[in-house]
Amino acid sequence: MNDVCLWFYGVRGSYPVPDKSVIKYGGNTSSILIKNDEHSIIFDAGTGIINIGNHLEVNGNPKAKIDIFLTHLHLDHIQGLPFFNPLFDSQYEINLYCPDYQDIQVESVIYSLFNDPISPISNNGIKAKFKIIRLPLVNEKTIIIGQKIMIDYKKEDSHPLSGVLLYKLGVNNKYLVYATDVESPDGFGEDVVEFVRESNILIHDSQYFNSDYYDPDNSKIGFGHSTYSMAVQNALTCKVEKLFLFHYDPDYSDFKLKKMLKKARQGFKQTFLAREIKKISLRS
Ligand SMILES: [Zn+2]
Ligand SMILES: [Zn+2]
Repeated sequence: MNDVCLWFYGVRGSYPVPDKSVIKYGGNTSSILIKNDEHSIIFDAGTGIINIGNHLEVNGNPKAKIDIFLTHLHLDHIQGLPFFNPLFDSQYEINLYCPDYQDIQVESVIYSLFNDPISPISNNGIKAKFKIIRLPLVNEKTIIIGQKIMIDYKKEDSHPLSGVLLYKLGVNNKYLVYATDVESPDGFGEDVVEFVRESNILIHDSQYFNSDYYDPDNSKIGFGHSTYSMAVQNALTCKVEKLFLFHYDPDYSDFKLKKMLKKARQGFKQTFLAREIKKISLRS
């Protein structure tokens, strides 16, 4: 099988930051691409997905299927969708997987991004073969993509108000877990530890420094995001191989993120900063 690679295209939380102080690690909101010659899998559709669209138009197989998996429907995870070029190209077949929230009409939330008064595109502007697929939150089933890529998911409830899905991608006996918009001051629950255990790559929310999270005048407790210490603790408990910090606070410059990395590495040596356009091989 040809090589499967991961690219970070959006690593920021909350809102995009077009500023020279974030030029190294990037200012786009959450979106990552995992791709081989036949398949393109995308986790989340923040503004990073716009450049993924451009990447696929240049480097992709135009007839390839694209599978987009959303963790939840907060704006920083869906705001790039109306600017994702493959949606407007009839050669593509695109599946969008969303959590099957009982009380939220996920289809109307997604289509509202393309329609008046949010956008002038209208549903008719979508030229790709586009399907929204709800992922049941109980009795989860593994999704098989092609012959060898498997995606498992798990609901995690710490993120207000509706929680998020964690995703685990398996290929060639390598496992990658995408765990963003989570908060675990006491560590992941046992079931989540089981889900993440011994993954090769853990991409983990790391929105805050501890000092900002516990700031007595402006505490971030209960916002549904992690400190780098929570990410490190979970990486240790779950015995993962590599930890990528992700979903940075929009106020954190490259300089601050380097400081965060240094502190995190004191707890878990194999820690890295997710960085836009960084390519990582998931070779067997
Ligand atoms: Zn977010
Ligand atoms: Zn969120």
